Amino acid sequence: FGGIVKVPPMHIVHIAVEMAPIAKVGGLGDVVTSLSRAVQDLNHNVNIILPKYDCLNLSHVKDLHYQKSYSWGGTEIKVWFGKVEGLSVYFLEPQNGFVWTGCVYGCKNDAERFGFFCHAALEFLHQGGLQPDIIHCHDWSSAPVAWLFKDHYMHYGLSKTRVVFTIHNLEFGAHFIGKAMAYADKATTVSHTYSKEVAGNPAVAPHLHKFHGILNGIDLDIWDPYNDKFIPVPYTSENVVEGKRAAKEALQQRLGLKKSDHPLVGIITRLTHQKGIHLIKHAIWNTLKRNGQVVLLGSAPDPRIQNDFVNLANQLHSSHSDQARLCLTYDEPLSHLIYAGADFILVPSIFEPCGLTQLTAMRYGSIPVVRKTGGLYDTVFDVDDDKARAEAQGLEPNGFNFDGADGAGVDYALNRAISAWYDGRDWFNSLCKRVMEQDWSWNRPALDYMELYHAAKKY
Ligand code: ADP
Repeated sequence: FGGIVKVPPMHIVHIAVEMAPIAKVGGLGDVVTSLSRAVQDLNHNVNIILPKYDCLNLSHVKDLHYQKSYSWGGTEIKVWFGKVEGLSVYFLEPQNGFVWTGCVYGCKNDAERFGFFCHAALEFLHQGGLQPDIIHCHDWSSAPVAWLFKDHYMHYGLSKTRVVFTIHNLEFGAHFIGKAMAYADKATTVSHTYSKEVAGNPAVAPHLHKFHGILNGIDLDIWDPYNDKFIPVPYTSENVVEGKRAAKEALQQRLGLKKSDHPLVGIITRLTHQKGIHLIKHAIWNTLKRNGQVVLLGSAPDPRIQNDFVNLANQLHSSHSDQARLCLTYDEPLSHLIYAGADFILVPSIFEPCGLTQLTAMRYGSIPVVRKTGGLYDTVFDVDDDKARAEAQGLEPNGFNFDGADGAGVDYALNRAISAWYDGRDWFNSLCKRVMEQDWSWNRPALDYMELYHAAKKY
C-alpha cells in the first residue's frame, strides 16, 4: 500500500476449552494463547472465555479475581477475570459442577459439559452487552458456539458479530464439526496441506468456499532458547553449538544417560495412533542400532498404550540404560530441555494437521525428522529431496522427511539424518544454525488471520 494503513482495532473473543499454559492438553491450547497474543500485538482487542476448571494451573494466572455472577441454564455461573501471558481471560464457573471434574477431557458427558459452556459463554457476552467483531471457536469442543450463536443470539444484540471456526483436528467429533462448518461465516484449518487432505470429508466438502488453511506458528517468547529457565546456557544461532552441547549434557545427566557425544533423537508427543506409534518404536530400535541415544517424552490417554510403553521402557532401561530413556508423563519443563538438548526431533505422524513440535524443534536448533503429511509437509523440507520445493517458499531445506507408513520409510529419513551427524559435524552445525534462523512464528499467520477476520466482517 506504500504507506501506513490505519485499520481500526477489531475485538476478537475466543471461546475455547484449552489454553496454554493453564489448561493445555495439546496443540489447540498452544494455538489459542499464541494466536491471541500475536493478534493483540497487532493492536487488536482479544479476550478469551475459558471454563474455570478445578485443575487450572493458577500459578500462571495474574490478578485473578471474582467479578460477578449470572443465572443461566438452571444454575448460577460465577465469572472470574485474570491475565494469562498478558491476555485478558474470563473464566466461567457454573455451580452445577461441570468444571469440577479434575480434568479438561475424559468425562463421559464431555459433549454435554462443553455444550453447556459454549451456551453459557454466549449468554455472558449477551448479558454483558459485549459485541465483539469476531467470535472464534475451536474444534468439536466449542463448535456449538457457531450454531447456538446463529440460532439464539445473532438477532438479539449481537448482529454485528461474525463467527470463525477453526478445525485443529478433524479426527475428533466430525459430526459437531460439520454442523459448525455450515453455520460459521469463515472456517480455517491449521495448514494448507491438511486443508487439502480433508477437503473430501463430508464435514468439510460442502463448505470449501469459506474454508482456508492457515499455518500455526509458535510463540517466540514462550519458546526462546535465549531466555528459557529450563535450559542451562542461553543461546541464539550464534552460539548454537555451545548452547546445545550444554543442554545435551544436562539432559543426559538428568535422565541418567551416558554423557557422551552421540546423536540424540528426541520424541515429544501424545502417544496415540495419530502419532505413528509403530514408527516411533521402530525408530527407537534403529537409533540404538546406529549407536545413538533416544529420549521419549510422551503420555498416552489410552491405558493399554501406556502399559505397552511402560513395558518397552522397562526393557530398554535394562538392555540400553546408557542410551535410552522413556519418560511416560506430561512434563513441560522437561520438554524444553529435550528440544534444546536433542540433535533431532522425530515426528512420524500418520496424519498431522499442523504439528508444533517440529516448529519448536527448529527454534531450538534441533533438526526435524518427519513423515510427509499435513503441516509437517508444509514446514519441513528435506535437505536431499526438497531443495526446489523449499526455494519456492523462499526457504532453504531444514530437515529430513519420508513417505510411507512402515519401518523402511522412517529408516530412509532417520538413517540419512544420523549419517549426516556422524559424517560432517561442520555441515550439521550449519544446518542447526540455519533452522534456528527460519521464522516459524505467528508474524505471518497472524496477518493471514486478520485478513480472514476482515473478510468475515464483509460476509
Ligand atoms: P497435538 O496437538 O496433536 O498433541 P501438536 O504438535 O500440535 O500435537 O502439539 C503438541 C504440543 O504438546 C507441543 O507443544 C508439545 O511440546 C506438547 N507435548 C506433547 N506431549 C507432551 C508431553 N508428554 N510433555 C510435555 N509437552 C508435551
